[in-house]
Amino acid sequence: MKAAFATLGCKVNQYETQALKELFRSEGYDIAAEDEPADVCVVNTCSVTNMADRKSRQTVRHFKKMNPNCVIVVTGCYAQTGKETVRAMDEVDIVAGTNEKSRIPELVRGFIEERKKIFDVLEYEKLGCFDEMGIVEAMEGRTRAYIKIQEGCNRFCSYCIIPYARGNVRSRKEEDILKEAELLINRGYKELVLTGINTALYGSEDDGEPKLHILIDRISQIKGDFRIRLSSLEPTVINSEYIKKLFEFDRLCHHVHLSVQSGSDNILRKMKRRYDMTEYRDIVTTIKEFDENYGITTDIIVGFPGEENEDFLDSVKTVEDIDFCKVHVFKYSRRGGTPADKMPDQIPPQTKNERSDLLIKAAEMSAARFVDRNIGTVRSVLFEEYDNEKSVITGLADNYIRAYVEMDEETAKNAINSFGNVLLEKRFLDGIKGILI
Ligand code: SF4
Repeated sequence: MKAAFATLGCKVNQYETQALKELFRSEGYDIAAEDEPADVCVVNTCSVTNMADRKSRQTVRHFKKMNPNCVIVVTGCYAQTGKETVRAMDEVDIVAGTNEKSRIPELVRGFIEERKKIFDVLEYEKLGCFDEMGIVEAMEGRTRAYIKIQEGCNRFCSYCIIPYARGNVRSRKEEDILKEAELLINRGYKELVLTGINTALYGSEDDGEPKLHILIDRISQIKGDFRIRLSSLEPTVINSEYIKKLFEFDRLCHHVHLSVQSGSDNILRKMKRRYDMTEYRDIVTTIKEFDENYGITTDIIVGFPGEENEDFLDSVKTVEDIDFCKVHVFKYSRRGGTPADKMPDQIPPQTKNERSDLLIKAAEMSAARFVDRNIGTVRSVLFEEYDNEKSVITGLADNYIRAYVEMDEETAKNAINSFGNVLLEKRFLDGIKGILI
């Protein structure tokens, strides 16, 4: 039997698809490529925007067209938020909610025996325990591996559907995380990226206090040559005092994704983001006092309902003041089922486009300033690949700067998947070229 998988959306979904592939393999299945014929097709869907819902439905139809006799399983966020629509689709045989992924092989067996549509989706309020899918043994790519540490979010930002798709906060058992980390390190992965729906909430379900620092401490104590990166930290959860706890871990990369979403307090209130710009800037100042070249990446939404031009200019000013190493600019997209979808003063598409173009330009300048500030410094780089044409090896520095070093192919072969200290000397492509010291 062959199983094929399609994944939409974020890194958490990609991680979960990897875990699912390993589950199916352990049941004796061969894993088919997305465009190969298969007996079972699993679509791990996304629901972050109305467009993501549509793409999820299109992928289901596409799979069915390619494999008319296969068992079609739909899981992931859209299987949760759009469960009745998915259940009604003729193409679909099994609907499995976000907390039922580990049971999918069992559900497939049930379907093959009975040939009756299976619907296994709980209401999001009832998603009460972490759905442990077992250890993920390998990731695509050779240097970096993701580890899911947490599920769910209880912040309910007004534009976000995620809490309705993923349910309340559940942390993965520490022993399962440590086992997976150790296995990945022994397999040669040099960077572990801790990921989850809202990783800052790890361990907070009992007393509301985040315990990410305790987990990082435990992972740090595993023997081996590796570093740890955080996929993101929510300023809706952490503050400038908490971030200091993370500075004591030598293995932790000097890079954090800290979503600001808007530079305007007025819009942050409407978004129900639970911090204001003074608090956000305090976190940034604390980080920069620790390491002035600490990499900070962020997300900003333009055209949120009620965003006046002066609110938008506050976002531009934020990008101008803080040298982010990368800014992801999103145009606000209405998402049915969220409070923001019903807000008055929705912004016309043309205004959103104009604001997005302007902010992208400001973001490019911000990133260029960050690159320039790093010239003349030394950073630890994990080498990932070799470019034959340019005779350079490239990798990411701990602070998210892309670094390049001239090298012959033979030397590069040995350097890939190892760390090197690089003196960063001059701008090159999207990063900085330097020399090994
Ligand atoms: S913190 Fe807000 S934006 Fe992030 S997942 Fe939770 S509700 Fe969504």
